[in-house]
Amino acid sequence: MAGEKSARHGINTRLAHGGYDPRSYHGFVNPPVVHASTVLFPDAQTMATRNQKYTYGTRGTPTSDALGAAIDALEGSAGTIAVPSGLAAITVPLLGFLSAGDHVLIVDSVYAPTRHFANTMLKRLGVEVEYYDPHAGAGIAALMKPNTKVVFTESPGSNTFEMQDIPAIARAAHEGGAVVMMDNTWATPLFFRALDHGVDITIHAATKYPAGHSDVLLGTVSANEATWPRLREAHLTLGCPAGPDDVYQVLRGLRTMGVRLKHHEASALEIARWLETQPGVAQVLHPALPGFPGHDIWKRDFSGSSGIFSAVLDGGGQKQAHAFLDALEIFGLGYSWGGYESLAVHVSLADRTVAKGDYPGPILRLQIGLEDVEDLKADIARGLAAARTA
Ligand SMILES: *Cc1c(COP(=O)(O)O)cnc(C)c1O
Repeated sequence: MAGEKSARHGINTRLAHGGYDPRSYHGFVNPPVVHASTVLFPDAQTMATRNQKYTYGTRGTPTSDALGAAIDALEGSAGTIAVPSGLAAITVPLLGFLSAGDHVLIVDSVYAPTRHFANTMLKRLGVEVEYYDPHAGAGIAALMKPNTKVVFTESPGSNTFEMQDIPAIARAAHEGGAVVMMDNTWATPLFFRALDHGVDITIHAATKYPAGHSDVLLGTVSANEATWPRLREAHLTLGCPAGPDDVYQVLRGLRTMGVRLKHHEASALEIARWLETQPGVAQVLHPALPGFPGHDIWKRDFSGSSGIFSAVLDGGGQKQAHAFLDALEIFGLGYSWGGYESLAVHVSLADRTVAKGDYPGPILRLQIGLEDVEDLKADIARGLAAARTA
């Protein structure tokens, strides 16, 4: 089943068969992991003109092509690059599309290392960096300047899960001549097909659900027809291909991502709804909960929700947050998410400029893994009891 034929198939069929071409590998189901720098040419003329499909390891291999084809089938993109981390999947397109004197609008609820990159390297390179309210919607038109070249979105936002009106933002950005990028890691292409909603370049920390086992770092960036040549050129110019073993692991992870995500989704929702009824919890920040601001946007644009959300305690501060975390026995205290195991972290919004929110107590981010829900609830109940008595 070739990638281009797959648009008519269901999502799990696409996950099983994207970038899948056994006849090219003697019938073996999976593609080979091609470890390569050098590629040989049959003669001097072919070498001089580089007139063959593969020419050097940094420029693509059958392994990276298989992952690219699989992601393109999910995203509906013209092309996909793989880079060594999710953060590189953010920095490579920003470097590719911004120049000195340009202005970039970045959502204030952005993944913190994206902000760090913008505030340090982009500013040093002469790019004017401005953060905007995640709820700006069509109002972003008022922030557009003649030199605004990129509008960077992330929806839901990191840690506090603000939903952005992506179609409205994309319309306003395009009217001003800017390229729209989206960090789409939370939803994966299963729950939000960003390019269908006006985004030009969609970014994934494949480290999370695509890899799924807390053992691989990888990023993917997928572009529409208009932006693909420049994205590919930036990738080649910067020389940052992902390693073949990691590319292979992510392709392998995609095969089961549909069933894993369904489980993460159901468990996270059950725990989020239960948390809303627990003493000591002021608010649950989960876009699929009807009471969540932005729920209407989620319902309109997204087809599912993943396994990460936050709970806000009704009062207290770091002491209560730490008591909660230290009482957990199943949840690990660690960054990242999308793996099979549950994780918790005390969120800091100190770097925000606009979207600080008005939260009555500490924010605890929970990644709900594949463990049994009753065990996870009991663990969280232990944490809440410890926070109440701290
Ligand atoms: C984790 C994450 C990244 C970065 O991925 P790494 O592979 O850890 O560099 C980028 N964006 C979001 C939203 C993330 O959660």
